[in-house]
Amino acid sequence: VPETADAVLDGLDPEQREVALALHGPVCVLAGAGTGKTRAITHRIAYGVRAGILPPASVLAVTFTNRAAGEMRGRLRQLGAGGVQARTFHSAALRQLQFFWPKAVGGELPRLLERKIQLVAEAAARCRIRLDRNELRDVTSEIEWAKVTQTVPADYPAAVAKSVRDAPRDPAEIGQIYATYEQLKRDRSVIDFEDVLLLTVGILQDRPDIADQVRRQYQHFVVDEYQDVSPLQQRLLDLWLGDRDSLCVVGDASQTIYSFTGATPDHLLNFRTRHPNATVVKLVRDYRSTPQVVHLANGLLSQARGRAAEHRLELISQRDPGPEPVYTEYADEPAEAEGTARRIRDLVAAGVPAGEIAVLYRVNAQSEVYEQALADAGVPYQLRGAERFFERQEVREAGVALRGAARAGGNDSLLDGADDLPSQVRAVLSTKGWTSEPPAGSGAVRDRWESLAALVRLAEDFARVKPGATLSDLVTELDERAAAQHAPTVQGVTLASLHAAKGLEWDAVFLVGLTEGMMPITYAKTDEQVEEERRLLYVGVTRARLHLSLSWALSRSPGGRASRRPTRFLKGLRPGSGPAGAGGAGGGGGVERGAGGRRKRRGPVQCRVCGATLTEAGAMKLMRCEDCPSDMDEALYERLREWRSEQARELGQPAY
Ligand code: ATP
Ligand code: MG
Repeated sequence: VPETADAVLDGLDPEQREVALALHGPVCVLAGAGTGKTRAITHRIAYGVRAGILPPASVLAVTFTNRAAGEMRGRLRQLGAGGVQARTFHSAALRQLQFFWPKAVGGELPRLLERKIQLVAEAAARCRIRLDRNELRDVTSEIEWAKVTQTVPADYPAAVAKSVRDAPRDPAEIGQIYATYEQLKRDRSVIDFEDVLLLTVGILQDRPDIADQVRRQYQHFVVDEYQDVSPLQQRLLDLWLGDRDSLCVVGDASQTIYSFTGATPDHLLNFRTRHPNATVVKLVRDYRSTPQVVHLANGLLSQARGRAAEHRLELISQRDPGPEPVYTEYADEPAEAEGTARRIRDLVAAGVPAGEIAVLYRVNAQSEVYEQALADAGVPYQLRGAERFFERQEVREAGVALRGAARAGGNDSLLDGADDLPSQVRAVLSTKGWTSEPPAGSGAVRDRWESLAALVRLAEDFARVKPGATLSDLVTELDERAAAQHAPTVQGVTLASLHAAKGLEWDAVFLVGLTEGMMPITYAKTDEQVEEERRLLYVGVTRARLHLSLSWALSRSPGGRASRRPTRFLKGLRPGSGPAGAGGAGGGGGVERGAGGRRKRRGPVQCRVCGATLTEAGAMKLMRCEDCPSDMDEALYERLREWRSEQARELGQPAY
């Protein structure tokens, strides 16, 4: 923990420091990936708290994912500013909704719908509209889009006609399914993910007394990844703020990847128009990635088009050179997965923690073959998107119920006759539909039961080690455990979609499946949609600190027709692919062959170990400086280790 408030500023460059010191009035940070936006706002909050300017409880920091929120809380604690709320829009809204529901509406907040797609299917069936699996998915995301853009069913056809998007089928039919879906939810008193924001906005709009109460609590707002704010989230933010302007937003228009949820970088890019007195700061130093990775990222952006691209800032790497990105062409998908798993296994064997490695793909369905390959290679992995225990919906709901019972204390008739702690917990959980016997079958209902059963066991263990502990002691214990789980843990290799990887970073990143059809994805048709796909690849590339691998497979299965082509986005960027926009060059020089490892290279030859440009004929043939070690992989691992300990020293973390 830094000793003084000023010491919190030590780890910042002059522009980041400007952000941290601008504690009053609106602030907007426009900057590319890896330039320390998240770091700047985290230090800004910590500095404000430590300097006694921002009361910790008055700050609400909004991040894009629960993981990012957890990391921010962990970092704030390390900087001596624990107790600040860092949440996603969704979790902040859910908390307020749970708290204010009894007062605003009465009764308990309706249950959250678990399987939205099933209910949409049911709604379609009621409308006598047949949908196959893909159509069902598309209609579901249309409904989500309509809700986040605050479009009611009756207005959907008009709204879709006005927007740039194509409806996946007759808009009138989608409007009808949407209306039926909303009705079904009301009938069963459930709410969906989007309702959480909609209802919170509704309550804050209709009830000035409640809005005042929220505004008295939160005085200062910080929003990360602001380029992806949806109209609904912006509305919520406006309601939280009221007529105040203590708002700090950071974002990168080139990383807008959630347009399909109605998100737009316009709020970020128009911030100054809306807040003429805003402090606007630009950051260009990239602290995350090597010059090699940054070079590729800049190259990708230089080919980008559209409004976001007009605001791009060339990144300048602050890191020592590292290895060139490795491009590998595989014959088929299983070979790609095996090749990737083999490389990862070697990295892990060389001492790189599995938690510092990620495999990123375009759609979640691609994970399966990588899960299999990693399991075969004996490498631990985890899927992003699968939630941690304390983040699961049922566990959070149970937490709220337990907290409520603890507050009510001895007056709660529910607890009558339950004299030791675990039976009190069982009694409270029974109000959440928990039974001591597991439900028949598997699936979501069983998963939910298992989570609550684990909570009961936790209470039993707690009661054993702490005889006489009360329900409020247990609630405190649960909060502490949840906070500890939020701390970034070093675990297996991360498997994640590119969308889920935003804001995160790893030493080694494998971008896989980079073929036309996947990247850009087949259903990206308009220019805008294709540009968003390019930004998605930019997000993927900029997740890598040191080692970046890009690969694709020419056919889906072994022996299949080699009909696939590498993504157009790498044209002119990967070696041997010709100038950008030129017609279909194949693998070409500089691209490794998945099986044989045949390498050829055109243009300036760089040392594969240290990245220096080579001029000596001998060195060029070897593709490495005379004094760089010959075993390419060994050298890479060595650099990874060095890199990591350098970083660890800087962050005061244990090295590996
Ligand atoms: P993204 O756009 O991907 O969210 P970002 O701009 O939020 O990126 P950060 O995640 O804050 O970037 O920072 C990227 C990396 O650079 C982190 O590891 C961070 O600790 C490091 N970093 C940022 N600023 C500095 C600095 N001034 N000195 C040293 N390291 C820094
Ligand atoms: Mg960030």
